[in-house]
Amino acid sequence: MSTPNYPDTRLLIDNVWVDAADGRVLNVLNPATGQVIGHVAHAGRPDLDRALAAAQRGFEVWRASSAHERAAVMRRAASLLRERADDVARLMTQEQGKPVAEARAETLAAVSIIEWFADEGLRVYGRLVPSRNPAAQQLVLKEPVGPVAAFTPWNFPINQVVRKLAAALATGCSFLCKAPEETPASPAALMQAFVDAGIPAGVIGLVYGDPAEISSYLIPHPVIRKVTFTGSTAVGKQLAALAGAHMKRVTMELGGHAPVIVAEDADVALAVKVAGRAKFRNAGQVCISPTRYLVHRSLVDEFTRAFVQQAESMRLGNGLEEATTLGPLANARRLTAMDQVVADARQRGGDVLTGGHRVGDVGNFFAPTVIAGLTTEADLFNNEPFGPVAGILPFDRLEDAITEANRLSYGLAAYAFTRSFKNVRLLSDRVEAGMLWINQPSTPSAELPFGGIKDSGYGTEGGPEALEGYLNTKTVSVVGV
Ligand code: NAD
Repeated sequence: MSTPNYPDTRLLIDNVWVDAADGRVLNVLNPATGQVIGHVAHAGRPDLDRALAAAQRGFEVWRASSAHERAAVMRRAASLLRERADDVARLMTQEQGKPVAEARAETLAAVSIIEWFADEGLRVYGRLVPSRNPAAQQLVLKEPVGPVAAFTPWNFPINQVVRKLAAALATGCSFLCKAPEETPASPAALMQAFVDAGIPAGVIGLVYGDPAEISSYLIPHPVIRKVTFTGSTAVGKQLAALAGAHMKRVTMELGGHAPVIVAEDADVALAVKVAGRAKFRNAGQVCISPTRYLVHRSLVDEFTRAFVQQAESMRLGNGLEEATTLGPLANARRLTAMDQVVADARQRGGDVLTGGHRVGDVGNFFAPTVIAGLTTEADLFNNEPFGPVAGILPFDRLEDAITEANRLSYGLAAYAFTRSFKNVRLLSDRVEAGMLWINQPSTPSAELPFGGIKDSGYGTEGGPEALEGYLNTKTVSVVGV
């Protein structure tokens, strides 16, 4: 049985919520208590076959509708989600752990993403290209790529789905999502808003189960024409390889290890306020989370003191309590990973200035942690921590900080603080990242491209460019007879 205000989650096939054909379920845990709070259906092959057939039928219907009709459904779904945001946020906090204010903000951000893509879908234009033959008319048409298979992770249970979903729906694709088994109810609530908004049956589908089993079946399947994944670089490379073997279109939004460069002329208070706060959002389980703080040597003591103070001011607790600013880690794997990164730092002689340990023995709570005195060989400066752990490293020349920022194979987000235009130019030109925020927090709004380079993936999940990932281009040249 689920807890009274946390529902069991079933599979969405043809606009109907169904159990898995063989009745299998998985437990869902609350990371703040370690308790089982509900269950999620575990799809098997027959369920996937039904979901694929529905996605094919849904695609035929959806592609034949006008962009205006599609936008109207999307806008209705956005309003329903807005009305339900408080309830949806509480579901998300119970299954994922983040403070309820963050869960609410994520849900409302989803509303804004759906609305923006609904409008942008109206502006998917083709072209008329003047022909070398005066008798011919040459058209460039944009068409939906087809049914999409999406694989999304547990850190932003709604946001990771909605960026893919909104771009797919706006272009006329159908959308079959394998959402995270650990956080199933909030993505289901997102999908419910679309069902209630009158989306035709089959256009959206939602399944859960064994991630590898599902991806290895869906990606090669002839119904699926496009694959989109958010998660770790290691898994992304496997899925991209499989998609490549079957010549499927791909968008990959993978890991990052974001540098924060605090230049000699930076506003230190601003840097700490912005980049320090960002570190602990969603307990650091964010692909664009700042992780490597590269601070000019003349500022490093001042920066470190203020950053430690900020870390110690976080209020660790159950995310359902409004005063909480730092919830538990989403699963026990992250606790193990944090223990390992801190142990490696200690073994290398690093100074754990605050935190560095689990808090209590119930739930996945880990103290906000700041570590200095390391070299770039430490695990913390090489592997994405994906948790509330920050490392500080001094530098002497801005060029050296840029070299360090670019040293890793990741290239997702980067942050910098400086007052000089010359530094801004240098950083903009040289930092290898898909997104660079200078003197400000990240603002990943729907209208801006969102994505990485290098091992952080390819394709983008924001801006008009995001729609391109879901469109085929067709040339039609006609001579009248
Ligand atoms: P993981 O690498 O096994 O899984 C990451 C995500 O990929 C999960 O949602 C999982 O369900 C999915 N996944 C794993 N194998 C899959 C497969 N074969 N087919 C389809 N989906 C698959 O490990 P994890 O413990 O869940 O997360 C650990 C790491 O993943 C983190 O350290 C972080 O680097 C990365 N991660 C990144 C993001 C992001 O926003 N880019 C989100 C979550 C996790």
